Parts: sequence; C-alpha cells; structure tokens
Amino acid sequence: MIRALPEIESDLLVIGTGLAGIGAALFAADRGIPTTLVGMTGELNFASGLLDLMGIHPIAQWRCWNNPWAAIDALLRDCPEHPYGLLDRSDMRTAFQRFTSFLGDHGLPYHLEPEANQRVITPVGTVKTTYAVPVSMLHGVAALAQKAPCLMVGFTGLKGFSSRQIAETLKDRWPAIGSCQIPFPGMSGELYPEHLAQALAAPTVREQLAAAIRPHLGSSLYVGLPAMLGLYDHGLVFREMQRLLERKLFEIPTMPPGITGLRLKSVFENELPRLGVATHFQQKVLTFEPRGEDGFLFGVGTQRVEWRVRCRGAILAGGRFFGRGLRADRTGIRETLFDLPVAQPARRADWHRSDLFDPAGHPVNRAGLETDSRLRPLDRRGRPAYPNLYAAGSILAHQDWTRMKCGAGLAITTAYAAVKALVGRGA
Ligand SMILES: Cc1cc2nc3c(=O)[nH]c(=O)nc-3n(C[C@H](O)[C@H](O)[C@H](O)COP(=O)(O)OP(=O)(O)OC[C@H]3O[C@@H](n4cnc5c(N)ncnc54)[C@H](O)[C@@H]3O)c2cc1C
Repeated sequence: MIRALPEIESDLLVIGTGLAGIGAALFAADRGIPTTLVGMTGELNFASGLLDLMGIHPIAQWRCWNNPWAAIDALLRDCPEHPYGLLDRSDMRTAFQRFTSFLGDHGLPYHLEPEANQRVITPVGTVKTTYAVPVSMLHGVAALAQKAPCLMVGFTGLKGFSSRQIAETLKDRWPAIGSCQIPFPGMSGELYPEHLAQALAAPTVREQLAAAIRPHLGSSLYVGLPAMLGLYDHGLVFREMQRLLERKLFEIPTMPPGITGLRLKSVFENELPRLGVATHFQQKVLTFEPRGEDGFLFGVGTQRVEWRVRCRGAILAGGRFFGRGLRADRTGIRETLFDLPVAQPARRADWHRSDLFDPAGHPVNRAGLETDSRLRPLDRRGRPAYPNLYAAGSILAHQDWTRMKCGAGLAITTAYAAVKALVGRGA
C-alpha cells in the first residue's frame, strides 16, 4: 500500500535558514503570517556577529565610508541595479532596528549608530568597517578610536587567533597596545573557541582565567579577548569576567567558524518557534509544484521528499554557492530549486578577471537572481516567474557583499522588503 506523505499548510514557506531566511521568518511572524521555515546550515555558522550595512564603494579603490547611507547613495549612483535600489530607506532602518532589538531581547544585545559605521578589530589585526556591533565587542570600538592602553589576550593552542599578531599589526598607529599569550586554565593541545566558551560556564574557570590574566594587565584600561565569553550564557560570562578583571572587556571575532554565528543561530532556533514559526532545520526543500494564484506545493526532506507543505507564498533565501542556492558547472550558473534564470557573464571565461586579487572583484560574484521591484524573481522573458515567489539575501544579483561589506544588511533588509511585498499582494 502506498502511504500518502504528511502534508502541512502554511501561508508562507521561507526557504533557507541563513540571515535572510531567519530575518524573513521573524518579519513574517511580526505580521502574524503563519510561516514555515526550512533550511540547511548556511553561512550563519561562519558569521562574525558583525552586521554590515554598506562599507566600501567603489571596491576597486577600497573607499571606506563612515556613513553607510551616504555609501548607499554613492553606490546607487554608480550601480543602480544593486538590490538596495529596490528598497525604501525607512524600511531598511526599521528592518535593522527590529532585527537587532529582537537579538537584544534574547540575550544578544547590539549597538548601532543610526548614521554611522563603526570600526572593529579583526582576528588578524586589521580594522573592519561595519554597522551593528554586538555589545560584547563595543569597548573594542572605543579602545581603537581612543588608542587607549589595551591588552590583547591570546591562548596557547587556540586556532586562528594570535594576540601578538593583532598587537604587532596595530602598534604603529596604536602604541599603547600590548599582548600576552597564556595557557587557558585546565586545557592544552589544540583549542577552539567553542571549548573555551563551554568551560567558562563554570565560575571556578572564570576565576582561574581572571587570575591568569591579572599579572599581564599593567596600566591597560581595556582587555581584548577572542570571542569565547560564553555561548548560551554569554551575557553572564561577559559581565562576570569584566567584574573579575576590573577592566573594560571586549571580544574580537575569531576566524570562522566561531561561536558568534552559533550565538545568532541559537537565538533564532529557540525564539522563532515561540513566535509561532514552524521551524525545520537541517531539512531541504527538494521539489516544488506551482499552483498558480493558490501558491505552491513543496516537497521537503533530507535526501528524499518526506513531507509536503502547501503554501500561498514563498520566499527563496537559498544563498549563493556556499548555501547551495546557486550552483556552477561547465554550462553556467544555475538556481538550484526553481531553475530560475541567473544573471551572469555571457561566457564562462568572463567569470573571473585575470588577476585573482583584482581589487575590482570578479563578475561571478555578482551573478544571481534579478527581480521586479517587489523582489519577485524574473523568468526568461523578464516577467515575475511566479506571482507569489519572492527572493531575499545573497542569492540576488548585482551585488558583491564580501567586498562591498553589505552582507547582513542585504539579507536583513531584502527579507523585510520581501515580506512587506508579500503582505501587500495578499499572498
Ligand atoms: C566567513 C564569513 C564571514 C562573514 N562575515 C560577515 C560579517 O562580518 N558581516 C556581515 O554583514 N556579513 C558577513 N558574512 C555574510 C553573511 O553571513 C551573508 O551575507 C549572509 O549570511 C547571506 O545570508 P543568506 O541568508 O542570503 O545566505 P546563506 O547564509 O548562505 O543561507 C542560505 C540558506 O539557504 C539554505 N538553502 C539553500 N537551498 C535550500 C533548499 N533547497 N532548501 C532549504 N534550504 C536551502 C542553505 O542551506 C542556507 O541555510 C560572512 C559570511 C561568511 C561566509
């Protein structure tokens, strides 16, 4: 006997659990839309925790902007097809405010200056321009701006983080920066931030760590540590370490994957279901059947279709090559679920410029989906492929988020706009 697959109904299916997908699910829940979220792990695990809006334009000249909105104005003058050109400014601000306040309400507070980018130290000692900064990294912004006496602390065996390299790289312009490398209490061999964060859940380990750092403090007013101050108990661990050291502490993002992405992920995994979102992590949307104005019937599972979801509208937030929303082969770049046309260079030979490190980037990085003004992906004739399919995030064409420093901003603001467009249409 052939058993029918289980089927659920939902007004909206969000495809993808990266920043764009979780953002879309949050914004849809805010509007009371019955929403199902399905996705495999994406770039979120690799997130630094910093939420960029717009930092660099033109990328070939690496011009760094203090005001992200002025940067967007300049970008859109030169590159009007960038997805930001489809968005309303006040919606973009609302999206960022809501996304960051939601994180703050659930133990991951952020700070943003509405009109200004902030400058943050990276794990290799360079300085990165970003928009919204986790509060745990905020003292680092102030220490860097003031060039205040500061100690960078690293740990023997910790992969991808060298306090000495950070201090050496910055010391020409920041003479009051120093560093130390110490063993992490009770640990040896190869260390990863997740292990350290878990160990710091114990008050005795926090006290031992503070005791190990104290002799190196000297006259420093600030102490920088790799992002490892707690995972699920992050706020408590941060406050306690700051109290024990009697200095202003800050975290520095570590090389990916670090715990900054895990913190983001855990907030959304825990809280979206409380908002009524039906979440299905580590599941994939494998098939779809369009049902005209009635929406879609999707097949979901891990390897094969195990259940179906019938929905009136969908937001595709499948990411790029890493997230597997796009795939590249000898014949070109394809969108993997709907086989939507992908805007891309005419010839494969034009995907990359001849110099791998060309500051202007590579055309392949701007390949992606083109949409109408309501973020509905276009078909081969240039019309919305489906009346109730929307796209958000890095799958969109005409942007190079890595170089422009607009990754999270693009994901969050297009997710907000896609949900708004969907509501406007009544899908
Ligand atoms: C190493 C690294 C560092 C970064 N640092 C920063 C930073 O400092 N600041 C910043 O702003 N941004 C940063 N980003 C960028 C930011 O993470 C991305 O711009 C953003 O995650 C893009 O989000 P997205 O949701 O569009 O795509 P992704 O994060 O790639 O998510 C796509 C999702 O779709 C899923 N998916 C694809 N197809 C299907 C399907 N058929 N069914 C179900 N699910 C599917 C994938 O599994 C994945 O969950 C960084 C990214 C990386 C990789």
